[in-house]
Amino acid sequence: MAIEWEVVIGLEIHAQLATKSKIFSSSSTAFGATPNSQANLVDLGYPGVLPVLNGEAVRMAVKFGLAVGATVAPRSVFARKNYFYPDLPKGYQISQYALPVVEDGSVDIVLEDGSRKTIGITRAHLEEDAGKSLHEGLGASTGIDLNRAGTPLLEIVSEPDMRSAREAVAYMKKIHTLVRYLEICDGNMQEGSFRCDANVSVRHKGRHEFGTRCEIKNLNSFRYIEKAINYEVARQIDVIEGGGSIVQETRLYDADKGETRSMRSKEEANDYRYFPDPDLLPLVIEPEFVEQVRGTLPELPDEKSARFQRDHGLSLYDAGVLTASREIAAYYEDVVARVGGHAKLAANWVMGELSGLLNRDGLEIGASRIDAAGMAGLLARIVDETISGKIAKDVLEAMWEEGKGADAIIEAKGLKQITDTGAIEQVIREVMAGSPKQLADYRSGKDKLFGYFVGQVMKQTAGKANPAQVNDLLKRLLADG
Ligand code: ADP
Ligand code: MG
Repeated sequence: MAIEWEVVIGLEIHAQLATKSKIFSSSSTAFGATPNSQANLVDLGYPGVLPVLNGEAVRMAVKFGLAVGATVAPRSVFARKNYFYPDLPKGYQISQYALPVVEDGSVDIVLEDGSRKTIGITRAHLEEDAGKSLHEGLGASTGIDLNRAGTPLLEIVSEPDMRSAREAVAYMKKIHTLVRYLEICDGNMQEGSFRCDANVSVRHKGRHEFGTRCEIKNLNSFRYIEKAINYEVARQIDVIEGGGSIVQETRLYDADKGETRSMRSKEEANDYRYFPDPDLLPLVIEPEFVEQVRGTLPELPDEKSARFQRDHGLSLYDAGVLTASREIAAYYEDVVARVGGHAKLAANWVMGELSGLLNRDGLEIGASRIDAAGMAGLLARIVDETISGKIAKDVLEAMWEEGKGADAIIEAKGLKQITDTGAIEQVIREVMAGSPKQLADYRSGKDKLFGYFVGQVMKQTAGKANPAQVNDLLKRLLADG
């Protein structure tokens, strides 16, 4: 009997906080500057300099904690995590360890089948990022860029609650949505502002204890997370079924080869010798400050989703897709307001055709070539039956390419729907006259041929005949002996 395996996943997400300056210094955090032009004495790790905590980073961490229903610690502590690396000139990273600022929260994820699941958040702590080693274009040498050193990060650690790569991706997307709603992280994954380490293990279904885990480092695309986890799960099952056992280790995902590779094992793992940083006082957060931050929370994704379900009659899943960012939610609501209802129709077009075009051209909704007014203009012509849904897809394409409104395109291309009963009847009679054999067969009981006649009428009218009218008229005229 084949053994059934269960997958266990926990994610450590690093969200770069959108502060103007670094977490312990006044250097700019702007991306893409000339190497080492945004690193001052604190970032460079000069002896004798002192870190000064950025209050804005604290406010952002608190905001996140409140949004995930977590406890904001009244007192948390910065620690030194000691290790050597060329891009870490101090010889230690300042992070929070035993006492993090945020503890014990959760978020809900919604899967494509409409099911919902709660994922626990163990903790979220503040820390500084390290610099970057640059290998490209430098021949045999490696360059060090310390612009990123000291950039504030919020590390969000989940419980091992996910049971598939899809759940892990849904969770990662949910946190991505959340940090952008809260405006605490720009979410730019290509620039590394939002990335995760995935901890993966497998166990026999029904077993209580977890299996030994491997940690896949630095995944910065949703697609890679899913692929890396699925590869890793298959690898671990293979090893165990082959009689081997999993060693706890850190692995890297090679996107070109589509596989994970060992980077270092637990035995080689660093002993970081954490201790409280003597240069920084404990972080004390007063209840008044927490309440003040609470007052700045926007309508959160789940609240917006509940409202969309209630007000627009959307399913849980659709509402989740349309509230994935504030921009898409605002676009959708703008379309509905302009059309004056037809919320489900608008949802289908925004999630379907429009998203398709955006994806094809790699654009965010904010850069859409068709704005909410344009989209509403198209939907209005479907609603008043000027065009059919099928023709509307062509109109949308043309609007996207030509940058014109729906009416102008319908007019210029002569796409107006034919709703004149007499005209449609005329076409039907012509089609019937031209297909005597099919007509006879239909009348002798071959009902399936109905579709043939619909097709012929649509062909003759270049798809412009009103489909409902064509149906009704065909039924009557074909039946008449
Ligand atoms: P470490 O201190 O080694 O980083 P943590 O206890 O902080 O370990 O856990 C790191 C992440 O690994 C968390 O997201 C946690 O949920 C996850 N995790 C822990 N054990 C397992 C396991 N057996 N399988 C999968 N994920 C795990
Ligand atoms: Mg950890």
